[in-house]
Order: sequence, then structure tokens, then C-alpha cells
Amino acid sequence: MKKIVVAGAGGFIGGHLVQDLVKAGYKVRAVDIKPLNEWYQVSSESDNLVLDLRLKDNCNQAVNGYNEVFNLAADMGGMGFIENNKAACMISVLINTHLLIASKECGIDRFFYASSACVYNGEKQTDPANPGLKEADAYPALAEDGYGWEKLFSERMCRHFSEDFGLVTRVARFHNVYGPFGTFDGGREKAPAAICRKVIESGITGNKEIVIWGDGHQTRSFMYIDDCIKGIKDIMYSNIEEPLNLGSSEMVSINELVDIAEDIAGHKLERKYDLNAPKGVRGRNSDNTLIRKYLGWEPSITLRSGLKKTYEWINSQIADDTGNKKKKNRFNN
Ligand code: NAD
Repeated sequence: MKKIVVAGAGGFIGGHLVQDLVKAGYKVRAVDIKPLNEWYQVSSESDNLVLDLRLKDNCNQAVNGYNEVFNLAADMGGMGFIENNKAACMISVLINTHLLIASKECGIDRFFYASSACVYNGEKQTDPANPGLKEADAYPALAEDGYGWEKLFSERMCRHFSEDFGLVTRVARFHNVYGPFGTFDGGREKAPAAICRKVIESGITGNKEIVIWGDGHQTRSFMYIDDCIKGIKDIMYSNIEEPLNLGSSEMVSINELVDIAEDIAGHKLERKYDLNAPKGVRGRNSDNTLIRKYLGWEPSITLRSGLKKTYEWINSQIADDTGNKKKKNRFNN
């Protein structure tokens, strides 16, 4: 039976991937730096290790005896986190570099790296009507400061480990992923979860005001977690050697995202715009020409249907918290 390591398994995407791979019958080792009681999902069927993967010896311990590695571990968060923690974001370079070296030494067959739309050249993202970022738009390079440069460098490390050492590597550039079991408070949350939380909280407190970062006209696309997990596996087991966009091409403004969250909640809020808050690039969308060509598929779960599930999940968590139930480690199975 194939043995698979998931790095960053205590986080949002890693947690979902572990569940999926365990369900498919693989032997899975789940690794994260966080104590187990802080993992978003914990499977009783995986081998769960708490290790700091910035350290080379820990990477060897994590991958030794296994066949494949999915690297989803990074010190990251939404715009509020990455704009204020550039050095911390760049230090994630140690995770991927040491995992690659350990994978080479331990004879790993296949390696997946989670890159990001933040690798794209900022000058190609100044118009809210972004036509969609093609893979080639990463160069000439002008990535998101800190986080994006680390991702771009790590993509190239994967490429050179393939070319020079024959390690099979696959790279996907995720565009904003959202869904249940993700971060929705604490400062690392991204726009869809943050907006759902703010709308839900206003329903609880009766405060009708919602603060939106920026003027609300900035655009993004958001990929539901189920599409992300399918895409990760399809790219990992494909023969595509170059980095590939993995994102939705349903572009919306942040104001439109708030409209959808309000529709789901059934109440309208008074919008206040914080023009000094971190807001990222002006317009970003995923051009899915290449993924369609290679895989005959692209993420297609609509924002409205994915956001409804996300909203309901966050609502249940906030209800738990209000009822003084245990907040962390809520999802053990
Ligand atoms: P997440 O923060 O929920 O998960 C990342 C996990 O990595 C966390 O549980 C964290 O504890 C772990 N980690 C951090 N440092 C570590 C270390 N030194 N050793 C071991 N584990 C460590 O983030 P996510 O949303 O699940 O993202 C997964 C991957 O996808 C990351 O590489 C991220 O940069 C990338 N990505 C995510 C998105 C998105 O919208 N969520 C978009 C683009 C790229």
C-alpha cells in the first residue's frame, strides 16, 4: 500500500487532504508543528507527528520509509498576516528546502508543493477587471513581497530538484481557498471566512456595521476546498512538470462577496471602508486555460454554494464558542 506524508496536516488544506487520503485507504503520516489539540482536523487513522519541519533532521524523520510527500506546511495567513510578517513567511523556505533534501535522501517517489497566486507579478494585477493570470505572468518576477517571493523560490527549488536529482515534483499555484475547518479568526483568516464571521457576529451583537478592508472594489476569485483537494491530487498524479494555476475563475469584488454573505445570512449591513487596512493587489483572477488543456477540468463549485457551507460551519463554531463549548480540537474523529 502506498504510504503518503502530508506536511501541514494540522492546517486547513492539509487537514482535508489527510481525511481524503485516509478515506481512500492510503497509509498516511500527518505532520505539523502545532500541538495536536490545535489541529483543525485530527484523524485517528493517520500516524500523527508534531514536528518543526524547518529542521532538516525532523524532515528526515517525517518522510523516511514513505513513498510520497505533499508539502502544505507554511507560516501563512490572509493579507493582514502576510503584509505584516514578511520575514516569518520567507522562513518557510526552510520547510520546503529541507523536505526536498530529505525526500531526495529517503528516495521519495513524488513530491507536491503548494505554491500561490502571490507569485504573480504585481504590475499585472493593478486593474480590478483582471483578465486572469496566466502561468507565464509570474515572470519577469515581481512577486508579493515576502510570502510571494518565498513561494516563487520554492517553486524553482522543486524544478531544480527534478532536473538535477530526478525527484518527481509537482507544483500548484492556489488562488484563495476557503471552506469549513479553516481559520476564521485570530488574524490569519482570509476574506471569505473573515466576512462570514463579521456578518454572523453582527447577527449576534445587533451591531449593523461591517468594516471592509479597502474600498471593496478589489477583485479576487475563491476556490472551494473540495475543488482544491481534487486539483491537488490530479496535479500530483499527472505528468505536468510546470507550475499550474489551481483556482476558480469566478471573479468577484469584495463588495460582491459581502453581498453573497448577506444574502445567506438574510440581513444587510452598513458598510464602512477601512482604506488603511492591508488590501493586497487590485485585481486577481485565475486563467484556467492550461489546467483545462492538461486535465480537462477546472474548479467549478460556485462561490454562492461554497460560501453557504462555509458560513454554516463558521456559524456553528461561533455558536459553540458563545455556548462556552471547547473551541480547539473540535473535530477529532
Ligand atoms: P494553514 O495555515 O491552515 O496550514 C499550514 C500549516 O502548516 C499550519 O497548520 C501550520 O501549523 C503548519 N506549519 C507552519 N510552520 C510549520 C513548521 N515549521 N513545521 C510543520 N508545520 C508547520 O494554511 P492552508 O490554508 O492550509 O495552506 C496550506 C498551503 O497552501 C500553504 O503552503 C499555503 O501557503 C498554501 N496556499 C494557501 C492558500 C489559501 O487560500 N488557503 C492560497 C495559496 C497558497
